[in-house]
Amino acid sequence: MTNDCAPAVITILGSTGSIGESTLDIIRQHPQYKVFALSAHSNVEKILDQCRQFQPEIVAMVDEAAADDLQKQLQAQKIDIQVRAGAAALVEISIHEKVDTVMAAIVGSAGLESTLAAVQACKKVLLANKESLVMAGELFMQAVADSDACLLPIDSEHNAIYQCLPECGAGKAQVDSRLVKRIILTASGGPFLNTPLEDFAAITPAQACAHPNWKMGKKISVDSATMMNKGLEFIEACYLFGLEANQLEVLIHPQSIVHSLVEYNDGSVLAQMATPDMRIPIAYGLAWPQRIPSGASFLDLSEESALEFQKPDLARFPCLQLGMDTAAMRGTAPTLLNAANEVAVDAFLCGKINFSQIVLINAEVLSKIPCETAATLAIIQEADLVARSVANELINKLNY
Ligand code: NAD
Ligand code: MG
Repeated sequence: MTNDCAPAVITILGSTGSIGESTLDIIRQHPQYKVFALSAHSNVEKILDQCRQFQPEIVAMVDEAAADDLQKQLQAQKIDIQVRAGAAALVEISIHEKVDTVMAAIVGSAGLESTLAAVQACKKVLLANKESLVMAGELFMQAVADSDACLLPIDSEHNAIYQCLPECGAGKAQVDSRLVKRIILTASGGPFLNTPLEDFAAITPAQACAHPNWKMGKKISVDSATMMNKGLEFIEACYLFGLEANQLEVLIHPQSIVHSLVEYNDGSVLAQMATPDMRIPIAYGLAWPQRIPSGASFLDLSEESALEFQKPDLARFPCLQLGMDTAAMRGTAPTLLNAANEVAVDAFLCGKINFSQIVLINAEVLSKIPCETAATLAIIQEADLVARSVANELINKLNY
């Protein structure tokens, strides 16, 4: 069965991260997939180990000193792999003619340029880096339409929705509103679903990163704890599936078994269910339109506790409300929110602000900077820079 799937030559952007490692785990199980290039910010030890196992042709290290170090270690071990330094190398490995599939798994806005380049080069793009779509959704989806690239969502909710939209096909995901009534994004509610609100300010980075159902990178873990992640996913879904904000709803589902649902006009509701393991959506993306084993365990519903669903408490999770509001506004509003949130989460992880201040920074940045039409990449990049600078000013003020 495994080898019936089409072979592919793959670049992994962000191979040392949680999604990057899960992708390599699937590639290890399926020899028809070849790694052409890997990339990381600066983790030499991990990428060296990946080089030994997967023998890519090129490795891109964004940090120049880490690139030097890697080069020396590869030479010392007589491993013949080209090392490139700097962010420009991410684009080079995304658009390389030998590559047909790009896993976009860099965290944050740092992933935009290389992911967009992969789309423009008409690659099969497996999109985990939701921030690039949140930042530049209109432009990004226009690039998909212009290049005819195949864009497959890896975020588990969006992947679930994609699987429940069989009429989409051909790597396109626009919803036909004549058929679909609404889409329901599920959310676990994160580690603080039932924590008393008065305890929120004292939440530590370690507590915020301890997600009950998923093991992920630090940034998305904090976003899950504030539910900014669901806000970002709300925006992501609007762009990806061509939806208005009022066609989308969020439901808390603490067990993370139902990954999202599509309600059709006749009253049918299709859901995708699976154990919470990112190897399932990643394997789906790699093999699409076929299916391959992912290595994840199979779902035994008789062993599961009850599957619960409830409406989100927006007073408890105001970041979700910000995501829903900016999804309706469009333009640069999601760009501003994304940039403010990246700065605020970083400040929280470094101990500069407390957990409850993340949403204050995000809301304040949105209220201080007017939203514009996101007509060009230059406008988006400028909005991103301005939002970062305002967020940093606010954080510095909080610290005096
Ligand atoms: P992570 O922090 O574990 O890994 C991030 C990767 O990006 C690393 O390889 C790192 O070296 C690289 N990176 C970081 N900063 C960079 C920079 N400035 N330039 C270039 N590379 C840089 O993150 P993750 O949890 O794997 O998440 C990756 C993306 O996938 C995020 O956008 C996240 O929202 C999305 N996602 C993750 C999960 C999950 O389960 N982890 C689920 C859904 C979506
Ligand atoms: Mg998700």
